[in-house]
Amino acid sequence: SSRVADKWIKTTCGYCSVGCGIVVGVRDNKAVTVRGNPDHPVNCGKLCPKGLSEHHILDAPGRAKQPLLRKDGKLVPVSWEEALTVMIEKISAVQQKYGNDSLGVISTGQLVTEEFYTLGKLVQLGFGSRNYDGNTTLCMASAVSGYKLTFGSDGPPGSYADMETADLILLIGANIADNHPILCQRLERNRQRNANSTVIVVDPRVTKTAMMADIHLPIKPRGDIALLNGIAHILIRDGLINRDYIDQHTTGFEELTAFVADFTPQHVAEVTGLSEESILSTAHLYGKAKAAFIGWTMGVNHSTQGAATVTAINNLALITGNIGRAGAAPFSITGQCNAMGSRESSFTSALPGYRKFEKAHDREELAGIWNIDATRIPTSRGLAYPDIIEAAVAGKVKALWFIATNPAVSFPNYPLLKQALESVDFLVVQDGFHPTPTSEFAHLVLPAAIWGEKEGTYTNSERRVSKVNPVVTPPGLARTDFDIFIALAEKLGVKEELFPGWTSTHDAFKEWQRVSEGRMCDYSKFTWQQLEDEGGAQWGGERLYADGIFPTATGKAQLYSVPCLPFVEQPNEEYNLIFNTGRTVEHWHTRTKTAEVEMLNTMVPNAWLEMNPVDAAKLELRPHDRVNVVSRRSTVRNVELRITGIVAPGQVFMPFHFAESNSNLVTLGAFDPISREPNFKQCAVRVEKF
Ligand code: SF4
Repeated sequence: SSRVADKWIKTTCGYCSVGCGIVVGVRDNKAVTVRGNPDHPVNCGKLCPKGLSEHHILDAPGRAKQPLLRKDGKLVPVSWEEALTVMIEKISAVQQKYGNDSLGVISTGQLVTEEFYTLGKLVQLGFGSRNYDGNTTLCMASAVSGYKLTFGSDGPPGSYADMETADLILLIGANIADNHPILCQRLERNRQRNANSTVIVVDPRVTKTAMMADIHLPIKPRGDIALLNGIAHILIRDGLINRDYIDQHTTGFEELTAFVADFTPQHVAEVTGLSEESILSTAHLYGKAKAAFIGWTMGVNHSTQGAATVTAINNLALITGNIGRAGAAPFSITGQCNAMGSRESSFTSALPGYRKFEKAHDREELAGIWNIDATRIPTSRGLAYPDIIEAAVAGKVKALWFIATNPAVSFPNYPLLKQALESVDFLVVQDGFHPTPTSEFAHLVLPAAIWGEKEGTYTNSERRVSKVNPVVTPPGLARTDFDIFIALAEKLGVKEELFPGWTSTHDAFKEWQRVSEGRMCDYSKFTWQQLEDEGGAQWGGERLYADGIFPTATGKAQLYSVPCLPFVEQPNEEYNLIFNTGRTVEHWHTRTKTAEVEMLNTMVPNAWLEMNPVDAAKLELRPHDRVNVVSRRSTVRNVELRITGIVAPGQVFMPFHFAESNSNLVTLGAFDPISREPNFKQCAVRVEKF
């Protein structure tokens, strides 16, 4: 049949940061099927529903196939030549009038690392704008900042394998069953190896992951810092700490001890809504474990105290010596397939190779490799994503370029974001799909290749660099992001200076290897062929900090005393419910891809709102009623109500995937002062009948 593949091509899944090995079956330049790669160390042949249907996105009807330029208010087809010429003219005009930093660029964890690396140089050294950031600031920035504060560097210290060997796994704000499904098999294997191991899930909702746990702690929203401090208090009080490790490898222990003295089980129980017994037994399980693993995702990161919460997690690992050993790690599970690649190689919150803008030595080192004057490298980072949006509203950023991201659905406080999109002089949207809720605002739409159409590498949460291969050619006139960047560099007249002789992403890889050599994220020994044959390789090896030496000024890790602040927008009489957001396994982020996959979209075609029966009874609402969710910002209208004990009284939950019922109409535009990550998780709403 036409569905029988005549060629099988190995690659890496392009959705989440688990980084599963996938083999795509191709026939006549069409991806006809996929299967899990049985030899891949991450997934051993398994795939989740998104991975299993990934080939369907390549020839989906919504693909962008043609450059489009707005003329007389309408987007009309133009040639690449015209599109790129106009883009350079418009951006140059804006920069001449308002300064180089009036260009804001937002990239994504969807590009291959080689593209990030190329884009960073193009934006910072070619266009000369510092105002460049990634949509990774909406998901992982708090983990990055927290790691840097504690350990002196980013980089998740553990491996997925640690989830199999730990005898205590504490998952905080991490619904892996929906969001990183293939990781769940690690929990299963853990149980098979050790019948006495324990999985504890801390989450305000009874998520699928909470249902799989031995113990679920249904914590009050943003109770996590109090819980972490409370656990530290009990560990210290009951002598369940590793004094040698603390003395040799950390600073700040005396301050931490004094600080957490107030976090008695009784106090923590009041703040978190958990029982004193459960707090005590969690601390004892953690402290007595031979190897304890803490995993977290967006429940921690999506907070105005996200970075601080990460340091409080790191505290627990450090005071018990649960780091740098098998089964023991404070482990940030990242979001997108290549969020890590963007952290290592891009030129956004840090210089490539985890170098620092502020360090003259780092700038000089890069200038030497790039053969440019070091004064061209900025001495501080530009604006972070939310600050670029605010600068656009304030009229300081006048041109915006979004690459493979859809802020009209993914950015908090949509009314403000809309103002930003409407107020710039020139808006470029480069994406594999059109129309999207963001591209509808664009002056220029650049059709881009997506996963399955380009070559390079992704890095997953465990620092595993995996090969990504093209399986088909892009549709219509779509081009790879790399080709678009290089074509723009040519038009700008910087191609030979910044990208000498480059014709493919492999040229970018070769330079990136030199840039990363000797750094923590060292790619210099990897070859693409080896990465493909072996199912990737982890930079830094299986785990970081095995020697207890940290890349800080003192070589020691820093313990932080983290205050527990109430979240910004507390419920009141008018807005009486706490709004929480999250995801479901069938969909990916803003559904530009998964809405196009019939199998996935049929399973979950619409958004819903979860409400506890107690609240529903008060509002006289019944299952399947249509409701509005109202906040101080705006209203999500006509959402299906699900009445369920999955959410606690006083809280409601909605998935953020759906443009038609955009949860970000109501979310709060409040950001972590350190990481600049949005507080997507807690804001005050009321619910009314539609
Ligand atoms: Fe892809 Fe993640 Fe699913 Fe694996 S778990 S198949 S990487 S979406």
